[in-house]
Amino acid sequence: MDIPYKTYLTESEVPEAWYNVRADMKVKPSPLLNPCTLKPVTAEEASHIFCDELVKQEMDDTTPWFPIPKEIRDFYRMFRPSPLIRAYFLERALGTPAKIYYKFEGNNTSGSHKLNSAIAQAYYAKEQGLKGVTTETGAGQWGTALSMACAFFGLDCKVYMVKCSYEQKPFRREVMRTYGAQVTPSPSMLTEVGRRINEEHPGTTGSLGCAISEAVEDAVTHEGYRYVLGSVLAQVLLHQSIIGLEAKAAMGKLGVKPDVIIGCAGGGSNLGGLIAPFMGEKLRGERDYRFVAVEPASCPSLTRGRYAYDFCDTGKVCPLQKMYTLGCDFIPSANHAGGLRYHGMSATLSELYAQGLMEAKSVKQTDVFEAATLFARTEGTLPAPESSHAIRAAIDEALECKRTGEAKTILFGLTGTGYFDLKAYESYNNGTMGDYIPTDADLEASFAKLPKVG
Ligand SMILES: *Cc1c(COP(=O)(O)O)cnc(C)c1O
Repeated sequence: MDIPYKTYLTESEVPEAWYNVRADMKVKPSPLLNPCTLKPVTAEEASHIFCDELVKQEMDDTTPWFPIPKEIRDFYRMFRPSPLIRAYFLERALGTPAKIYYKFEGNNTSGSHKLNSAIAQAYYAKEQGLKGVTTETGAGQWGTALSMACAFFGLDCKVYMVKCSYEQKPFRREVMRTYGAQVTPSPSMLTEVGRRINEEHPGTTGSLGCAISEAVEDAVTHEGYRYVLGSVLAQVLLHQSIIGLEAKAAMGKLGVKPDVIIGCAGGGSNLGGLIAPFMGEKLRGERDYRFVAVEPASCPSLTRGRYAYDFCDTGKVCPLQKMYTLGCDFIPSANHAGGLRYHGMSATLSELYAQGLMEAKSVKQTDVFEAATLFARTEGTLPAPESSHAIRAAIDEALECKRTGEAKTILFGLTGTGYFDLKAYESYNNGTMGDYIPTDADLEASFAKLPKVG
């Protein structure tokens, strides 16, 4: 090992501002639309749902840098800077000339990168003098991160958790309750939309889109509450830019430049954050990189979706967003990467992909777990199933280098750890894991229901 295995930034090298990649995009992502009027959402309308400062960040596509408030930087010190790790042992196992680096975001109790945005969103809610926030959680990582953040600032936290994961992941639920959150299985009988969905689909085990609708309704019908979202929105990508800024600074210290940057993509927040400063250079014509979004073959919004305005939630109460989507009623078949099951993709990443500035690929679940297992055995860390999509793509890239003899530098985002996903590992180890892929007919049926806009 000629250079460090792990590279950390010193405290004085840690970024003090987030980077807004939209500022450098010539063609901006399309604006959010009001679901009733189909006109662009105004800040006033959005402020009924979201915190004021977060609305400002959401709508600002021209300011490149947002200083990170001191309270947030202080909290970040508990788990940041996160390490940039050279995957020497994985490289050796693959016999590749490629150099593989990963940025590890799983070193906090919530176990993922989601805490980077949760603490920012909780901070702005507190600053506004709110009592609390509501949210949804699918696999549970976002709910856990938000519970930690709310506990830190003494805010009330109401989490609507997709019913099937509420039942399948009791440990996640208890972590959230330990941090003081109120966790409700969704669809519930607490909201009008929950009661409606329960009536229309008796016995349903819920979906992310449905839990979002419940959380939004709860926020707008209770004084002093706002809704917060853990991915997809531009503000979340802004907060997650801390990942890319740190990674870029650490690679700069080592004097290396990545040729290809890879991340898993659910709603797009970790990938959007990881690539942000590198994409900025590409957009400004300073340097070139390849960017690769990796999604599950069971929920392929970029690789097989439509680029169109769609609802962000099943209940159709949230603003519409122009994005690559599978349709807001699309329920992906059972898949163990719960954090990658959202029907749409960040509008920013969607626009970058549409412009050909980013690539996308989809990978099958069993191939993902094969990669996860090799990674665990060589690099030590038990990766989250979501993160393992990026591992799969990085390994494939490194094997391609072995074939061609090219010594490319690969950077990927290791978004989290898999301790709460052992049911998934169990089914892989037992040989019972399946590869579900929607048919074209399934997707066409869903596209037919896309809202007609413009
Ligand atoms: C939520 C989650 C993801 C996917 O979310 P993005 O917004 O696409 O980043 C990926 N990895 C982990 C560990 C997650 O918890």
